[in-house]
Amino acid sequence: MEPNIQTNIHPLPQTANQQMSATRTLVLNSSVCKADDIKLRGLSAMLPHGGLPEAVSPYMVELIRRTGGIHGPLGKQFIAQPEKEGRYSKIGMDPLNEDHHEIAPGVVYKYRGKLDKNGNVAHFGRVLWTVTRLCATYCRFCTRGREIGLPPHVKSRSKATIANKFFLSDEELETVFKFLENHKEINEVILSGGDPLTAPQPYLTKIITRLAELQQKGALDIVRVGTRLPVHNPLAIQDWHYELLSKLRNPYLMIHVNHPFELTEETLHVLNNFRKISLASILSQTVLLKDVNDSVETLNMLFVKLAREGIRPYYVFQNDPVYWAKHFTVPFKRAIKLWGRLRAKLSGVVATARFVIDVPYGYGKVPVPEGAAWDVDYSHFYDFKKKMHLVK
Ligand code: SF4
Repeated sequence: MEPNIQTNIHPLPQTANQQMSATRTLVLNSSVCKADDIKLRGLSAMLPHGGLPEAVSPYMVELIRRTGGIHGPLGKQFIAQPEKEGRYSKIGMDPLNEDHHEIAPGVVYKYRGKLDKNGNVAHFGRVLWTVTRLCATYCRFCTRGREIGLPPHVKSRSKATIANKFFLSDEELETVFKFLENHKEINEVILSGGDPLTAPQPYLTKIITRLAELQQKGALDIVRVGTRLPVHNPLAIQDWHYELLSKLRNPYLMIHVNHPFELTEETLHVLNNFRKISLASILSQTVLLKDVNDSVETLNMLFVKLAREGIRPYYVFQNDPVYWAKHFTVPFKRAIKLWGRLRAKLSGVVATARFVIDVPYGYGKVPVPEGAAWDVDYSHFYDFKKKMHLVK
């Protein structure tokens, strides 16, 4: 029987600080956390090249236990399956070509803006700024598994700054602030990682305060904060998080929710606080994952619940082709069919979500056309180099 998604998860006895530091300790010290039937293996269940230790917050362990255990839709997302994750060769470490596009510490600049010959902005661009490689729980399909959660003793093959340190130095932060100020064709920063909200208060305060100052000076329009902490461990979110984000002008909180079971009362409570106290607009992205959420019913339930809570579904992604997550991939043709059937059921407010593929080699997110309406031929497509690919 499916667990009731309205179930209240009783708050765990730890304080938010203890919860957060338990997660950090697990990642940094390779300790193994036991929770009755779910025994986390920590660093001994990392990916073959190093990243994504099996570290899960106590809150999420409890939620996994209540939603079908390690074989349930949450267990599959967070409990390692080393036999599947190591099955393929180690190619596909950085399919989105992010390392190649890092042009200031942690700053990935793929969606470029442009100045005209007079130095005026011809069109704006946006950057992704990866400020830590820590998360409160590690998702087994993480597209940045090449560096996320990597413990200090494992040498990364990635040249990304956060692959080689947990946080940026003061000097590196200054370099980025200057970079943003000097590039007036950039008007948007997407804070990412890892999970920026897991960073220590003084570090995140410095980042958000300076971004808010750039907004005030007119050097930056939009700040999006990408986070899964409200899902991974809402108990770790404290008052200072809300207050800090309220310094930004119209902050956007980009959460990542894959299954309706993730929307617990605790999660909805903190999201509501971000709306009320930080005045944040909350957008949700969802990764399509085989045997987790690849059904019309599950996605429909998720989107309806998001909409009911005033959260806007934004993207549904085809999962990125990283070698450790191939077992999560829904074949493209099936994904398109599923999306077509789902789209027809969705309310207009929810159908703003787009089904997108982050095309390998750095081309960006491409929405998949809605074939049911336009009779699109999905047998093949051409990439940005005009090379044809057959769709399987
Ligand atoms: S929260 Fe995001 S960055 Fe962290 S492991 Fe999950 S997908 Fe990766």
